[in-house]
Amino acid sequence: MVHSTDVSSTEGVLYIVSTPIGNLEDITLRALRTLKAVDLIAAEDTRHTRRLLAHYEIGTPTTSYFEGNQIQKGEKLVARLKTGDSIALVSDAGTPTISDPGYRLLAQCIEADIPIIPIPGPSACIAAASVAGLPLHNFVFEGFLSPKSGRRKRQLADLREEKRTLIFYESPYRIIQFLGDVLEVFGDRQVAIARELTKKFEEVFRGKVTEAIEKLQRTPPRGEFTIVIAGYPLRVE
Ligand code: SAM
Repeated sequence: MVHSTDVSSTEGVLYIVSTPIGNLEDITLRALRTLKAVDLIAAEDTRHTRRLLAHYEIGTPTTSYFEGNQIQKGEKLVARLKTGDSIALVSDAGTPTISDPGYRLLAQCIEADIPIIPIPGPSACIAAASVAGLPLHNFVFEGFLSPKSGRRKRQLADLREEKRTLIFYESPYRIIQFLGDVLEVFGDRQVAIARELTKKFEEVFRGKVTEAIEKLQRTPPRGEFTIVIAGYPLRVE
């Protein structure tokens, strides 16, 4: 069924469009149709997004919308939406606004009474959670913790007695230190480490934090990682 607010309305609409986290086939038909139909695509990195658009032969113009230009660019995008043009917001991978730029643009659009429509699809958080093998009736998504160990340990200490499963993003350069801090603050809990999901070197490690650290020390970490950690004091063997 085509939604009544799908692109065709005369009113400018902001679409929050999820794109693949690796495999280009992980995009919905509705996302492709929306990306084709809108007047402009606001992308975190236009070069990156153009590869996706080229793959699907989508010729819609793009403009950049990233952390550093959010305020001024947001104002320009809102002005354009007000003229009746529709805009799709995309990030480099997954769902915009989830540990990605977009929050300010949404706030500006809400303030200006501009309709906002999600075009749901992949997110690394949900993909990793879905294969972790840990309880997920509810969970806590923490995204990136601080890159600084002292602050990161304090953030972890605040989460130590959280009973729900926890999900984090971390860069390959810091993942071993991150897991070291997790071991120190949480103890040797069950984890699932999802690497390069949907890509050629996709891998999911399930085991204890100490085992994960040993494995990562044997093979230097490469690629993108999402870490899912059992809540307190549950242990899933
Ligand atoms: N908005 C995105 C989403 O919905 O998935 C997340 C953006 S955040 C800047 C990027 C982080 O997501 C990466 O540093 C990594 O932790 C995680 N990530 C992205 N792609 C991934 C993949 N294919 N496999 C595992 N983790 C991934």
